[in-house]
Amino acid sequence: MKAFFAILFSVVVIAAPQVEVTDVDLERAGSGRTIALGALSTDKHVTNVPLETYVSRVLAGEAERDAPPGELEALAIAIRTFAIFNAGRHARDGFDLCDTTHCQVPRPSTAATRRAALATAGRILTWHGAPAEIFYSASCGGRSESADAVWPGARLPYLKSVKDDVHDADEPWTFDVPLADVQRALRQRGFEGSRLKDVRVGSHTSSGRVATLRLSGFEPDVIAADQFRAIISSRDLKSTAFTVDRKGGHLHFTGRGYGHGVGMCVIGAGRRSRRGESVKEILDHYYPGLEISTLDTVPVRRPDTRVATSPAPRRESTSTAVAPAAPTTSRTAVRSGVTLRGADQAELQQIAVRAEQAMAKVLGVAVAPVTVDVHETVEDFRQVTGKPWWVSASVNGTEIDLAPPALLTQRDGVEMTLRNAMVQAMAASAYAGRPEWVKIGAARYFARPTPLPAPDGKARLKCPADAELTLAISATAQREAEARAEQCFARTYAMTGDWRAVR
Ligand SMILES: [Zn+2]
Ligand SMILES: [Zn+2]
Repeated sequence: MKAFFAILFSVVVIAAPQVEVTDVDLERAGSGRTIALGALSTDKHVTNVPLETYVSRVLAGEAERDAPPGELEALAIAIRTFAIFNAGRHARDGFDLCDTTHCQVPRPSTAATRRAALATAGRILTWHGAPAEIFYSASCGGRSESADAVWPGARLPYLKSVKDDVHDADEPWTFDVPLADVQRALRQRGFEGSRLKDVRVGSHTSSGRVATLRLSGFEPDVIAADQFRAIISSRDLKSTAFTVDRKGGHLHFTGRGYGHGVGMCVIGAGRRSRRGESVKEILDHYYPGLEISTLDTVPVRRPDTRVATSPAPRRESTSTAVAPAAPTTSRTAVRSGVTLRGADQAELQQIAVRAEQAMAKVLGVAVAPVTVDVHETVEDFRQVTGKPWWVSASVNGTEIDLAPPALLTQRDGVEMTLRNAMVQAMAASAYAGRPEWVKIGAARYFARPTPLPAPDGKARLKCPADAELTLAISATAQREAEARAEQCFARTYAMTGDWRAVR
């Protein structure tokens, strides 16, 4: 006799209650914090979006379509951290963050992204107790990149290259482009040469990505790989983790990953979540050394906030900004025409006025209104201007961004730097459309207390191509190109005696 026992299991799957999270819930969770979002992609209007609503929207734009909750939550924390740290980057435009890839791209939120924003509300990554400067990318391809390999001078020890063991099954991407197209694109950006013969890898970063490329037949004959990527097509050339071969008249690229690869890898976060890693474990892997803190416990004032010179912060009108306590910039107008923002040292003001007056006299132009933004840290300068760390001043029309004065005293000095920048600002309209060496050369030439003697007219002197000055791959290369620009200027100026005629 056999007895059959039928054991019935009643399997009840208890799903987590999928409570619908609304924008109202998100607004309530954000304790009144908002992001002044500038619609740069359309009509530039500014809307104040509650912080957590903003996070849920960016999440919809940046996460994978079927992202598991762990990926969404890890990414929500990264997005919020980025927003808090960068809230001042568009202060000059009158808002916190723009809606393009320059900052973060928002899309209509979904139930899942709103849930993730609420689940992590107020949580950010901090470094030594302050909001951390972080980045994230779509896919690292197997190894993340260190921040200083992409942005030279970045001192972000928690953004180092880490191995990511979830990419073994990734299919490499490929991209083919005619050499003639590359040649045309490089020429447009200031490279010179009759024929681009080949493009080869010049050097690698420590993570194995391409750092520089050799451009045989062109001048300059080297370019930073990320600049090359931006010039050719960041969408087709998905990352700098590639190899390149010339096949006939084409360049053939094979690569891994998508994006700069710095910080958390979105695809990797999803795979780690699916294999059971917690949100904290995921963040610890990509941002070793950072802590997860809540916004209420960290000072929203960034350590490199510029010092206000007057009691009225410039951005007072956007009273609901993320960092309402942090005056980012202020203006002090002085009669000479120089407006100095972000520095309270009367001495600096005097130097700026003196530099402007001296250069106006040398050039024979009227003293015009010029605004000088003095940055307190290199990071801030780098972030606002997009220039590498070795650049001392960035001139855009009559706006001058100045690297920290303490740093300038170790270089050419504050006065020389300001004189140089003033010449660029004052000569900008007369020099519109001229080669870069004219602009840079004139600035260096006139900034000197004693002018450089004109080089021998017969001496061979190759004036730098625009790209040598605007896309230099190192501080040394930049210095060398600028010195040549000045010699070129001195030689031509000696012949005409009219700075406006140098071309
Ligand atoms: Zn932006
Ligand atoms: Zn990865």
